[in-house]
Amino acid sequence: MLHGYNPPQRFLPYLSWREIVELPDRANTVIVLPTGATEQHGPHLPCAVDTVIAAGVVGHALAALPASVPAYAMAPITYGKSEEHLNFPGTMTLSGETLLATMNEIGESVYRAGFRKLLIVNGHGGQPQVMEMAARELRLRHGDFIVVPSFTWRVPHVAGQYLSEREKKLAMHAGHAETALMLALAPDTVHMAHAVTNYPPEFPSRLLSPDGRPACAWSARDFGPSGIIGDPLPATAEQGQAILESLAQSWAQAITELHELHWAPRAEATWGRGQFSGHVEGRAPG
Ligand SMILES: [Zn+2]
Repeated sequence: MLHGYNPPQRFLPYLSWREIVELPDRANTVIVLPTGATEQHGPHLPCAVDTVIAAGVVGHALAALPASVPAYAMAPITYGKSEEHLNFPGTMTLSGETLLATMNEIGESVYRAGFRKLLIVNGHGGQPQVMEMAARELRLRHGDFIVVPSFTWRVPHVAGQYLSEREKKLAMHAGHAETALMLALAPDTVHMAHAVTNYPPEFPSRLLSPDGRPACAWSARDFGPSGIIGDPLPATAEQGQAILESLAQSWAQAITELHELHWAPRAEATWGRGQFSGHVEGRAPG
């Protein structure tokens, strides 16, 4: 069935409209939307990596939640904005405009269903800007809608204890951390015999990139033929399991905090005498 890594009782599409209407506290029920991509991840990983990781982490987080916290996962978004991987077959991409419209329209549907807390757990590093734009647009249309556009790896996790300094600094795609997590989540799809090490050159400007990561727009083929940017070779399933558990615990905590969050919208802002104490350029203050 469709629920994937989620406990079936926490998978929103399994509810009928009637069951959704009868939920006791829709406004404080957290709806979690995993967003991934379908794009090349080197010769050793499947194109579904970002979707598997986002959906897998969300599913394990929901499984770790106490029953007292109401939260449901939506079906993941499996296509994203992946133009930087277009030169490799298997990459399926939406344009930024299409993805922005998709996020907006799904967000509107979540709001229309009576929910007021939407958490986006995005697993693809090429599209956080789109998630942030959609979240802001939804917020501007609905002052009582709390939309959190986040990244799967943003919460505390233990991956750092396994990664080399070079990997922490330069790996961007299909490297050690993603490979370890895939060995835990979907081992049958990982082919370590095809894994190779491939790092990008350090970006030569210290001002534009103090840590040396490529600071210009890039396409995966800029870094060679494998599609890997990092070193997947040291990854193991045991590391992946530990990383998965740490991510799931952190996301369960984040979902609990979002459920408990009461962030009252401010009254309609007014622009007028007495409301603004700053200095306006070109006008005498006071
Ligand atoms: Zn990825």
